[in-house]
Amino acid sequence: MKKCLVFLGVLLLWMVPAHGGLSADDKQQLVDRVVAAYGGDALLSLPRLAFEDRTRRLQFGQSVRPDEIDLTPYRASIVIDFENNRKSWRSAAWFGSERYTQNQFFDGNRGVSLNHTARTFAEDAGLSFARADRSLSYTLDTVLVRLLHGAAQDARYSGDVLLGGALHHMLVFQADGHPQMTLFINAETAVISKMTRPHWMEGAVHSYRFSRHERRNNILYAADTYVLSRGQPRTITVSREVNLNPSMDGLFDIPSGYEEEGAGIDFSEMKAEEIGDGVYIAGQNWGFSLFVDEGDHFIAAGGYAGFTDRYEAVTSLVGEDKPVRYFIVSHHHLDHMGGMQEIAGLGATFVVHRSHLTSLQARLDQPVAESEVVLISDERAALGARVQVVDVPSAHASHNLTTYVHDDGSFFSADMFFSRQQQGGVRATAALAETLKRLRVAPRQFVAAHSSRPLSLQDLTTAVGEDRPDRCPESWTICTP
Ligand SMILES: [Zn+2]
Repeated sequence: MKKCLVFLGVLLLWMVPAHGGLSADDKQQLVDRVVAAYGGDALLSLPRLAFEDRTRRLQFGQSVRPDEIDLTPYRASIVIDFENNRKSWRSAAWFGSERYTQNQFFDGNRGVSLNHTARTFAEDAGLSFARADRSLSYTLDTVLVRLLHGAAQDARYSGDVLLGGALHHMLVFQADGHPQMTLFINAETAVISKMTRPHWMEGAVHSYRFSRHERRNNILYAADTYVLSRGQPRTITVSREVNLNPSMDGLFDIPSGYEEEGAGIDFSEMKAEEIGDGVYIAGQNWGFSLFVDEGDHFIAAGGYAGFTDRYEAVTSLVGEDKPVRYFIVSHHHLDHMGGMQEIAGLGATFVVHRSHLTSLQARLDQPVAESEVVLISDERAALGARVQVVDVPSAHASHNLTTYVHDDGSFFSADMFFSRQQQGGVRATAALAETLKRLRVAPRQFVAAHSSRPLSLQDLTTAVGEDRPDRCPESWTICTP
């Protein structure tokens, strides 16, 4: 029977004209069929829509250990007010026994993020209606149909494919403020089985598979969405509640008594700075690197994609072309290994913890031999004339190599503290200060892969001391995993 269906599928595939086979009229007809399948006018005139998901996230490339995949309970509540162009996003994630809640909204005019633990808020100019939900709406196919309908004019038919033996039309479109998406539409039912959108790694995609469709007040939605990232499982749905008439109470208010956070630093431009004698920090957005002048070469750390741009910013600041001889790999997480191929291309020798070698190899086009890297197994190792490499294990990563410039007192790490504000606003893990205290290392200033503003040890210990347990507002329904 299955063979028969596959054969039928192939036959259908053969009968439908390939690439570009749908005329403009046919394409519009397909969009209309999709809209009709999801409720037609009932969907298009829907003033608001809410959904609440209980999910599990698999931490491929972001687990504590490189050889095990961690599972994170994750809950989210999204309310979309189509009528007034407003959107609210609330989430809770659990790392071990620690909960971490987040909240942001766009109220039609401005984007706001709220920190209910610190009782603070911050206005965020980059937080639009499209971006307020951190892409979470893409997990609900019903929302995609609204987006498709609004951008149908420029949608493009890109051929047919068999999914699970059923013929699917592929439709590519891009709604305002959203990434380009490819919909896989069941040719017979006009229901969306799958959507893909680009991943930040070239050629890779995020995939969303929609199943177990249900109908409420004639509106169709997938009760189950399975998200993959680069072909690996990312999110599994445990349960989903869809609400077509959600309450808007308090969703777009800043609770009384909340204080505004200090102004953020503008990281949008590439910037290179000398923060110590021959010690430089360079970067933009979320990726920064440290460069230590060792006379005729640099020792560098901070492996986000775009390393070459940061290297060039430093050489133009110094006015001298020096090679990067050593590059210190902090840990195995995918984002911090985004620049490995560039760094190999610059001819640098990798300094890497023994347990991260396999992860590093996976990020390189040409594998490096063990003899071609500096393997670190100890807690502390000397490198060049000015640098010590210090391993700081934490709940974030089982090993994490930091860079200490001992003759200058500068210290660089990844994912141990965050500071994105001009003043204050520091979040730090206790592990860093504890390890440094035990090893009797007392740097005078700290910079990091995500934070280029130099901080003192006091800044970090104060932040650890002020760290409070997560507070989930009483009215929320997503506070337990
Ligand atoms: Zn990390």
